[in-house]
Amino acid sequence: MPPSPDAVLAVVLAVALGLVGVPVGRATGRVVPLFVRHDPGPDGGSGPPPPACPHCGAEIPFLRWLPVPRSADLLRRGRCPSCRATIPVSSTTVRATAAAFAVIGATTGMGLGLAGHSWVALAALLFFGALGAVLSVIDIRVHRLPDVLVLRSYPVALPLVLGGALAAAYVGGPADRLASPEIPPADALTALAGLGGVAGGVSGALVGMAGLAAFYGLLWFIYPAGMGWGDVKLSGMLGLYLGWQSLSSVISGTFLAFLLSSAVGLTLMALGRATRKTQLPFGPFMIIGALAVVLVGDPLPLII
Ligand SMILES: [Zn+2]
Repeated sequence: MPPSPDAVLAVVLAVALGLVGVPVGRATGRVVPLFVRHDPGPDGGSGPPPPACPHCGAEIPFLRWLPVPRSADLLRRGRCPSCRATIPVSSTTVRATAAAFAVIGATTGMGLGLAGHSWVALAALLFFGALGAVLSVIDIRVHRLPDVLVLRSYPVALPLVLGGALAAAYVGGPADRLASPEIPPADALTALAGLGGVAGGVSGALVGMAGLAAFYGLLWFIYPAGMGWGDVKLSGMLGLYLGWQSLSSVISGTFLAFLLSSAVGLTLMALGRATRKTQLPFGPFMIIGALAVVLVGDPLPLII
């Protein structure tokens, strides 16, 4: 059977974006060694240490509103601004970023989920892929989701997601059709309904962000030992993307995170690699659950 054009496009985009993911992962993988493990004392103690050079311990400042180190030398040549030593790149981050970009390319080619809607949507998803990869690696290594990455990603993700949701109205979308001077009344109604869908994407993203952050905040408040405060801060970002797709996606993506975490926990226990007391980092499951639903589509309407 000859492959359909969509399958060819999916393979081409997967390879092309996978290759783009390598330099992106090399850049983001450089920040991984800047974060060390931090175990707060019983009274909460002081906060986690700021990002610092693994060689000399000098603090590495980040840009005020972006999840990016302020040092151009670190970004260009990978050197510590204080001691000039080369900061090693996390190769796991490079592989994870390339894999995430390849999957985003494949789903864009097949027109699944949010992928393939517009260039803004693609940029929003690639940002999610790059951020998700580096945060997952840091959370697995040192059990942290650092504020300088999580909180400063909101000013990047918000305009990308809201722009992606609004872009669906233009480029042959309902706003374009309504602007045409000779639109038949039936088409005008369809276009108006389409505009309603665009408004749903924008409001869904904002409601998803607030709703999921509130849900995780409540879990943290009820049982602080089971959930990190970093997970709560990340959850709003995931709710933003999931709610952009649909409000039921927020439920599916969250359920998938808990399902994956339980499956991995039980498997590790069966293999004797973990006990009931082992604390698995939850961030990677939240990220993979949300990314899967956003890229492949929400399975909930198919189930119920
Ligand atoms: Zn240094």
